[in-house]
Amino acid sequence: PPGPPPRGDRRICVCVRKRPLNPQEALLKDLDIITIPSDRVVLVHEAKQKVDLTRYLENQAFRFDRAFDEQASNELVYQFAAQPLVESVFGGGMATCFAYGQTGSGKTHTMGGSFSGKAQDGSKGIYALAAEDVFRLLHAAAYAKLHLHVYGTFFEIYGGKVFDLLNCKKQLQVLEDGSQQVHVVGLQEREVRCVEDLLSLVERGNGCRTSGQTSVNAHSSRSHAVLQIILKSRGTLHGKFSLVDLAGNERGADTAKANRKRQLEGADINKSLLALKECIRALGQSKAHTPFRASKLTQVLRDSFIGQNSSTCMIATISPGMSSCENTLNTLRYANRVKEL
Ligand code: ADP
Ligand code: MG
Repeated sequence: PPGPPPRGDRRICVCVRKRPLNPQEALLKDLDIITIPSDRVVLVHEAKQKVDLTRYLENQAFRFDRAFDEQASNELVYQFAAQPLVESVFGGGMATCFAYGQTGSGKTHTMGGSFSGKAQDGSKGIYALAAEDVFRLLHAAAYAKLHLHVYGTFFEIYGGKVFDLLNCKKQLQVLEDGSQQVHVVGLQEREVRCVEDLLSLVERGNGCRTSGQTSVNAHSSRSHAVLQIILKSRGTLHGKFSLVDLAGNERGADTAKANRKRQLEGADINKSLLALKECIRALGQSKAHTPFRASKLTQVLRDSFIGQNSSTCMIATISPGMSSCENTLNTLRYANRVKEL
């Protein structure tokens, strides 16, 4: 049986995950236009019309480190995409894992799981699965002598500003010191002693993510949520894993009907997603210059884009429906550019 395919460039892993058609889409007879013919290829069957109005399908193929179809579990995605990063963090690495895609394509499902990853019958997300491995490795013989302690931070980036989700959404300043170290001033860091500790921290943070009028979903489509799992040895930083549930990447539609506030939000999201792509590409090419100052998102993750010990994974989530075709193609093109295969 074929084992997992090689990851190629170990520092960057890009995979795509297709979700199933949802009941709403099925009801509206939305067509599934995505097939995954092998575990590295995504095919898009786009309906087109010629000038003489004959209909035809245009097939486009995209290649990634790994492509997951709608049958894939969070565990499978985790094992390929994020588990190697957890191990690298124990080795003193700085790692990031991003969920990228259109709103409703499965970013939060992948990261947080259902029922916030807690319930036994729901599916655990990458937050919970990573936390399980962190606490397993923490007690493993190889690492016990490091006397590691685990800390968590949880914050949100919205409109180019940082808000602490563990401190009533307090707005925080981001400063760079003389040696180019980036500091999020006053960011709350909580010690976590078990998986449940980390998940309740996420739950609490999500609770304060929105105030009143907008639902968490509507709000999360316009902000990046960053959960960090930090390992310290005798008070000094050992390794850090940042898990990022990105803002929805569908911006064109937003700006068409938008008011001024939405337009500014959209522009800021575009800017940060563009900067993210460039920073990951720079990491892959071991470039001397990483344009991390181009957005708040990349600035606060600076540590993770430089240095020999950085590695990153992007999970691009896609909706299967014809109605999402344009956003899906945008997602696939972006993910392809992050790591050209
Ligand atoms: P996003 O965070 O990208 O906006 P969500 O993760 O909230 O999207 O997913 C939208 C809906 O689709 C949710 O109801 C979620 O449970 C469901 N969903 C997403 N991905 C999957 C999947 N792989 N399998 C089953 N349901 C999924
Ligand atoms: Mg979401």
